[in-house]
Amino acid sequence: SLSVEAYCRQHEITVTGGEVPAPFTSFEATGLPREILREVQNAGFSAPTPIQAQSWPIALQSRDIVAIAKTGSGKTLGYLIPGFLQVKRCSNNPQLGPTVLILSPTRELATQIQEEAVKFGKSSKISCTCLYGGAPKGPQLRDLDRGIDIVVATPGRLNDILEMKRISLRQVSYLVLDEADRMLDMGFEPQIRKIVKEVPARRQTLMYTATWPMEVRKIAADLLVNPVQVNIGNVDE
Ligand code: ADP
Ligand code: MG
Repeated sequence: SLSVEAYCRQHEITVTGGEVPAPFTSFEATGLPREILREVQNAGFSAPTPIQAQSWPIALQSRDIVAIAKTGSGKTLGYLIPGFLQVKRCSNNPQLGPTVLILSPTRELATQIQEEAVKFGKSSKISCTCLYGGAPKGPQLRDLDRGIDIVVATPGRLNDILEMKRISLRQVSYLVLDEADRMLDMGFEPQIRKIVKEVPARRQTLMYTATWPMEVRKIAADLLVNPVQVNIGNVDE
């Protein structure tokens, strides 16, 4: 088996932060629950992608992460699988609100994340729903009332539902900003900041982005605490 250094070099993984744990170079090395391992096997995956290999052990230490990796690198499961474990660990009453909140820039992307969460979380009995604009609120509100562990939302619709007081984020302890650069490009920064005010300060925050420009650095500095930064490949500014 490869040394950690050789694995990181081969996959162009660079990390910044104190005492960063070694990447999980195989699924067996993750020690993940059997039902989750079965799902990744069923999907035909042979090994974690580099972003998964490096972000899982960091996320499992409950640390904040900024991950910079391009599209198609497997970021979704990079944050979803530690999110599933967080749901299990907290065992909150989902009727009082979600444990995991994922913010995503578009309806299309949010739907894809939800599909991945349903597929890989089903055998762990994790519920997930999606909140996005351009669709009636009724079915989304009914899902929330049934009780949901993981909410994937676009910032605009989530703010509308927060203003209606039909969701509480008081139980959220795992917050993901996916495609942070795109959300900022789309002008969602004020909405994101409003949402984060509703999430307890004692939380884990993970930010995934394809590029690392000044605006993204600034919001990361404001919302994350002492994050480990993980880069895969070259970083675009
Ligand atoms: P990103 O968010 O970085 O753009 P995705 O999370 O959407 O990437 O993943 C891209 C594709 O790779 C998806 O079809 C996903 O199911 C697949 N994938 C995820 N993890 C693995 C893995 N460990 N091995 C093979 N394919 C994977
Ligand atoms: Mg993605």
